[in-house]
Amino acid sequence: MPQEHVLIAGGGIGGLALALTLHQIGVSCTVFESVRELKPLGVGINLQPNAVRELEDLGIGEAELDSVGIPAREWALVGLNGCEIYAEPRGKLAGYKWDQYAVHRGEFHTLLYRKVVERLGPDAVRLGSKVTGYRKESDGTVVAIIENRSGGISEVAGTLLFGADGIHSAIRAQMHPDQPPIHWGGTIMWRGTARGIPIRSGSSFVGLGTSRHRVVIYPISHPDGDGLADINWIAEQTYDTDHDWTKSGWFRPVALSEFAGEFAGFVYDWLDLPALLAKSTVAYENPMIDRDPLPTWVDGPVALIGDAAHPMYPTGSNGASQAIMDARQIGRIMLDRGVTASALAAFDSEFCEPIGQVAMRNRGAGPFGLLNMVDERCGGQFQNIDDVIPAHERSAFMLAYQQAAGFAKDRLNAAPPTIPAGAIVNRVAA
Ligand SMILES: Cc1cc2nc3c(=O)[nH]c(=O)nc-3n(C[C@H](O)[C@H](O)[C@H](O)COP(=O)(O)OP(=O)(O)OC[C@H]3O[C@@H](n4cnc5c(N)ncnc54)[C@H](O)[C@@H]3O)c2cc1C
Repeated sequence: MPQEHVLIAGGGIGGLALALTLHQIGVSCTVFESVRELKPLGVGINLQPNAVRELEDLGIGEAELDSVGIPAREWALVGLNGCEIYAEPRGKLAGYKWDQYAVHRGEFHTLLYRKVVERLGPDAVRLGSKVTGYRKESDGTVVAIIENRSGGISEVAGTLLFGADGIHSAIRAQMHPDQPPIHWGGTIMWRGTARGIPIRSGSSFVGLGTSRHRVVIYPISHPDGDGLADINWIAEQTYDTDHDWTKSGWFRPVALSEFAGEFAGFVYDWLDLPALLAKSTVAYENPMIDRDPLPTWVDGPVALIGDAAHPMYPTGSNGASQAIMDARQIGRIMLDRGVTASALAAFDSEFCEPIGQVAMRNRGAGPFGLLNMVDERCGGQFQNIDDVIPAHERSAFMLAYQQAAGFAKDRLNAAPPTIPAGAIVNRVAA
């Protein structure tokens, strides 16, 4: 029987996690990545315990994650008045068997790339190779159309093709030519990092402000000898919809003077945000965008994963985790169904609809929905949050979100490994 070969369009976190997973289960693959050189781009992202568990099963353990980030200890929401709305421990402190990690996206991405090259060889990731589309063949296989560095076009045949090419996915555009344009709900984010002293627990994710005007801060490195860490910040402002978001680029470098004034009032005895922003080494502007959920992620031997399948607002801190989970679930399903279109169809029917719902929850503010409730009920003015949203209601709100996003503690702790150690695809059965 001829050896299957899987093609992956996009070498982001999703595409590289898929390459490592396929390698683990004995399936060969090639990743085609459009950029000519992988640079450590982006700022902070969170890896939820479900994804950290999968990374551990891929042989990327705590020591390596500690080199690109720090375990998160707490998740907290604080009103614009500086009073706490909600706080809960995270990771092992919350009883998970795995930590949640706050990492530098670029350094984590580089770590995955290094692992792929070490394990699959330097030819496994073809840089400067933009996948512009695909053609389904009559024998059930697929051909990827690739534009190389010099603009030349080539065709590469494979058993299956995964579109892991992000929110602007070319594979998705071909699969769903009538998809609506990118959706923007009115919020602009400015993101960056600055050296600072971590607040609260020393590794707290803090959302501060109102649903329309807020900042999120958390450290993404262990502190140095002086107690200073890289603090990731995301400042967000929601505008009326006549604001022209298309003038804002995707990770457009931006001067602090363009937005810092909007956050001049975020000064408390426990945080001086303007002073932190002033120490920033980088700042990017980013519209908060996503896409409407799709009816299917699969077209015969072609499937979408990660942001290509389900781009989400970052309100739930689960875009990268979900991309990793997609890769792992595909590996699990291939163990049963082989490297086949039927495996892709099974992946689609199990996950397309529920993950689309998670994306919609994130559009509705995700776990930050509590800030909306505070706004609606008291206009952000309160002394004691229990008078506004009772503790049991706050907990129930958070639990519902966590269950939908797949990182509810008891279920995760009790679940068997997604891919049992040593399991490889059974080709006779396939
Ligand atoms: C440069 C960059 C910086 C980011 N920074 C942050 C951040 O600071 N904070 C945050 O929360 N999220 C950030 N994200 C998004 C976050 O990484 C993703 O939401 C999440 O990791 C899901 O990853 P993904 O692999 O599905 O998609 P992505 O991370 O978007 O990766 C897609 C990959 O596909 C490549 N690609 C695109 N089109 C093609 C094509 N036609 N052919 C071949 N390759 C293609 C891209 O270059 C990219 O490497 C960033 C994404 C990018 C691309």
